[in-house]
Amino acid sequence: MATVTMKQVRPGEVPKDGGTAVQEDPGRPVFRGNGPNDYVCVECGNVLAVSMHPDQMTFRVRVKCAVCRTINVAENDDRPPEQRRRRRI
Ligand SMILES: [Zn+2]
Repeated sequence: MATVTMKQVRPGEVPKDGGTAVQEDPGRPVFRGNGPNDYVCVECGNVLAVSMHPDQMTFRVRVKCAVCRTINVAENDDRPPEQRRRRRI
């Protein structure tokens, strides 16, 4: 098991074909799977998804935190090339 901190979605990084899951109860993750990772809000650390596979948490999957209203994404794979270059390790 690992805990993964999600990333904040910025304007322009949102793919048109994706959807945003809205968490309504801070104590209840919006996704519950059978994978190795738990995903937490980048801003406040609230648990948004539990037991998920990384394959399931793509850049198309976004979650709006019930606590701080931040929209989180696990990966920002659709960034423009210059931005991707800058932020890659
Ligand atoms: Zn939050």
